[in-house]
Amino acid sequence: MIDVSLDRAFVLPIYYDMLPDLAPDHALFLDMDGTLLDFAPTPAEVIVPPGLPALLADLAAQREGAMAILSGRTMADIDGVTGTILPAGAEHGFLCRDAAGVIHRPITISANRPEWRAALHDAAVRMPGVAIEEKTYTLVAHFRRAPEQGPALRMLIEHFIEGEPDIEILPANMAWEIRPVGAGKGRALDWFMQQAPFRGRVPVFVGDDTTDEAAIDAANARGGFGLHVHRDFDGTTASVRAWLARAVKGVLR
Ligand SMILES: [Mg+2]
Repeated sequence: MIDVSLDRAFVLPIYYDMLPDLAPDHALFLDMDGTLLDFAPTPAEVIVPPGLPALLADLAAQREGAMAILSGRTMADIDGVTGTILPAGAEHGFLCRDAAGVIHRPITISANRPEWRAALHDAAVRMPGVAIEEKTYTLVAHFRRAPEQGPALRMLIEHFIEGEPDIEILPANMAWEIRPVGAGKGRALDWFMQQAPFRGRVPVFVGDDTTDEAAIDAANARGGFGLHVHRDFDGTTASVRAWLARAVKGVLR
């Protein structure tokens, strides 16, 4: 059941006529922060909108499990938001959990190397406000609390990944993420589309960020719909939720 608090968002703006109707036989892929819920600087500060876990459960059930979250966050963070165990590409698709709950690693190169980890932690000591996040396959240097350190931090990272053709710097939100080349949400979407129950369906993806562009392209390339929160919606996560809720309520206009 959908939480009734979503009903207030049911007066849909006119541009909704431009959006595709989400059908039960679509495979659905959703970014999390900035798409399903408003962005927060840390996972602990995220506010999960009332009704979101029930909405996601209904969307997943409607398409027999062919729905996955594609996020830069860890699997634990994703599960904390969705309140259940859904198929998910965590850490930009480095860890993909299929519909049976089995975790796969489509990419095997790691950018979380001991010497780089140590170099970043040393830098964080010298640069107050810089925080280092260690993920399974990537390292993230956050400078939200010290924006002036951003350029110097990037130069440092460029210096130690020099001569590593398999490693790149991904500009994230007030952070630099060091990761293997070719990783990302587009690749994760393609991986899911080869698995049951996604295989054979038309993919629909919604995202809001530069890291989502590859998944938007991948969905479009498969004859589906890659939608952007700012280009295709009005830039608010409430509008995305209302569009999704309309699909499970079967509202006809
Ligand atoms: Mg996002």
